[in-house]
Amino acid sequence: LTEPIQAQPAVNIVRIPAACPAAAAPEVSCVIPAYNESGNIAVVIEAVGHELKRLGRSHEIVVVDDGSTDGCGAEAAAMADEFPVRVIRLSRNFGKENAMTAGLQRSRGRAVIVIDADMQEPVSYLEVFLRQWDAGYEMVYGVRADRDDEPALKRLGSRVFYQLLNRHAAVRIPEHVRDFRLMDRKVVDAILSLPERDRFMKGLYSWVGFRSLPVPVKIDPRHSGQSKFSYRRLAGLALSGLTSFSDWPLRMWTGVGLAISAVAMLYAGWIALRTLLFGTDVPGWATLVVAVFFLGGVQIFSIGVLGEYLGKIFTEVKGRPGHIVAEETGGSTVGS
Ligand code: UDP
Ligand code: MG
Repeated sequence: LTEPIQAQPAVNIVRIPAACPAAAAPEVSCVIPAYNESGNIAVVIEAVGHELKRLGRSHEIVVVDDGSTDGCGAEAAAMADEFPVRVIRLSRNFGKENAMTAGLQRSRGRAVIVIDADMQEPVSYLEVFLRQWDAGYEMVYGVRADRDDEPALKRLGSRVFYQLLNRHAAVRIPEHVRDFRLMDRKVVDAILSLPERDRFMKGLYSWVGFRSLPVPVKIDPRHSGQSKFSYRRLAGLALSGLTSFSDWPLRMWTGVGLAISAVAMLYAGWIALRTLLFGTDVPGWATLVVAVFFLGGVQIFSIGVLGEYLGKIFTEVKGRPGHIVAEETGGSTVGS
């Protein structure tokens, strides 16, 4: 008990050396998290590779194979002859947040661009991002210009989520923000220095600050395949974001408890007064039942909120890494 608590290494513990000798650091690293993106991955690598070449920036393309089962990692590795592709294979599916973290950890560029593997984010924006970076912005991020292509339920869910998230928040997380962005090395290092394991990246990006510029981005339909985010997964992500970046769900119960007590006291006063004035009439079981159920519901719900935070603390205390790298290939060439 007297031993001081040892500082834990942040996020990733398993380190596997790169398969090939490292080339000189490129100017730009492009990180692409990919989960079962066979049919898309080659297209996006080609698009990004050609665009960065056209813009005359030395670059590497870091594909994070997030436990794919459709061979998309091998498809990416097969492009290494033509493009400076590195493939980081995670040992299983760890989710996009962890896949992005893995990519950021291994990227070497002075600027890092994160882009989805499904061609929803047009590569033409890379030029805009890079120009703003040259102009001195440390982070340039895409914001969805509109959500017209999304189902109404998803739009509503997203609106509610950001309302809740940004309530009393010290750091605002912009609505409609994408992971699609360019970050200066300083920003990447700051994000990687944050020790938490449950990583809601959109929150971390905002939390670190820096000179940031939003750019409205027109999102295209998916090149092929389907979204990997079911409503259930989105709800999990939302809960992770809420519990990571706000504590009002915990605090509000003090207020709710006080309000209910105040109402109960007023009601007690009224009953006393009424009994004095008119005597007792009906026993009032309906009022009782309603009060019992209502308070029962409030209590169970508030215990549930406590449970969410407790679960989060449990995850953090266990201190497991957010992801495990199974294999890393490429990295000996840099595109120019
Ligand atoms: N993704 C990932 N791991 C996952 C789920 C998704 O790396 O567990 C990647 C996916 O391959 C894609 C990006 O995250 O490159 C965005 O996913 P998707 O297009 O399914 O999400 P949406 O565009 O519908 O929000
Ligand atoms: Mg997508």
